[in-house]
Amino acid sequence: MTFSKLGLPNTLNEALADHGYQKPYPIQVEAIPAILKKKDILGIAKTGSGKTASFVLPILVNLQGNSAPKNRQPQALIVVPTRELAVQVGAVFQLFSKALPNYIKTVTVYGGVSINPQMMGMNGVQVLIATPGRLLDLVDSKAVQLSAVQMLVLDEADKMLNLGFKEEMNRILSMLPKQRQNLLFSATLSPDLEGLRAIIMPDPLIINLSAEEKVAIDLIEQTSYLVPEESKGPLLRYLVNSNAYPQILVFTASGYKADNVANKLRKNGITASAIHGKKSQSARNKALQQFKEGELTVLVATDLLSRGIDIAFLPCVINYELPRSPKDYIHRIGRTGRAENKGVAISFVSPDQLKHFKMILKKHKLWMELIDSTILDLQGH
Ligand code: AMP
Repeated sequence: MTFSKLGLPNTLNEALADHGYQKPYPIQVEAIPAILKKKDILGIAKTGSGKTASFVLPILVNLQGNSAPKNRQPQALIVVPTRELAVQVGAVFQLFSKALPNYIKTVTVYGGVSINPQMMGMNGVQVLIATPGRLLDLVDSKAVQLSAVQMLVLDEADKMLNLGFKEEMNRILSMLPKQRQNLLFSATLSPDLEGLRAIIMPDPLIINLSAEEKVAIDLIEQTSYLVPEESKGPLLRYLVNSNAYPQILVFTASGYKADNVANKLRKNGITASAIHGKKSQSARNKALQQFKEGELTVLVATDLLSRGIDIAFLPCVINYELPRSPKDYIHRIGRTGRAENKGVAISFVSPDQLKHFKMILKKHKLWMELIDSTILDLQGH
């Protein structure tokens, strides 16, 4: 997929390439054409998914055909929970509006700074990015009027609700024209959010990126061994020595165990290091770096490393000990099977953990037959 297929003008496509946007992210593939067609959207997506550009680009394009705004009456309103996000979103509008022929005045306002310059800056505003409290202050002081808003974006709506902005949001909604396009973005879907969704849009296009994560899980081949505690070390060495996986990330439940497992591997001539919370940041960085550069065959880690860390082409994850929470099971195995590469996730299940393992599988609607480790010849490993 390329940006040129999404219906954006060429000048924008060129600007995207100039800024390193080589191809659209999944949310952009779905959201951009729909927003261009003026559809309502509910996007379940986190920061980092590319959601900002997914609404900024089509909003800028849709505004191109508009007549000049009436004074102090924005046509697009973006409501965000924090000052940082306001600044970030404002910067993306500024960046890409330069690539379009008609100038679009974008103004960013938030609390914690003097209101006067913001009041003065409202002349000719076409896109207004605001935190809820400051927006209402500006409305109350008649610096801005919301009756010409054609496009509303509620960005990180779950965070706004969590921060207690519900009343402010309701007040803002009550001031908007009934006829408008609504774009609601949230990292999570809660009953409160669903309530808000139901009020502002009956039938949106739903883009759920948590489904993307599920697709990635499909790329991971999951296996499990029923193995007594004392055979876990030999089984690990057996798998390492089988040379089936050039590199393995091993998870343990505690830092103590991580050190233990790494030491034992080293004693058996396997390059290994451990990462956990009790190690200094520099030791952690060094071990991760060595692993990423292929200098270590095995990295043993606690759940400290189970979220967010991106190790390119990691072929195998082993749960030497199971995680306590089913969520962490997915986070752990998600270290492999990234960027459309296949991966293997192996769980070592001791008999006393069998019930817990079954609970994890049930939670994720997974099914797996356990391989009995006694059928393997672990002698000498
Ligand atoms: P966001 O989720 O909107 O905060 O975007 C996260 C980061 O991804 C930002 O630094 C964007 O500049 C960048 N980004 C968004 N879309 C793309 C893309 N299609 N290609 C490359 N980088 C992107």
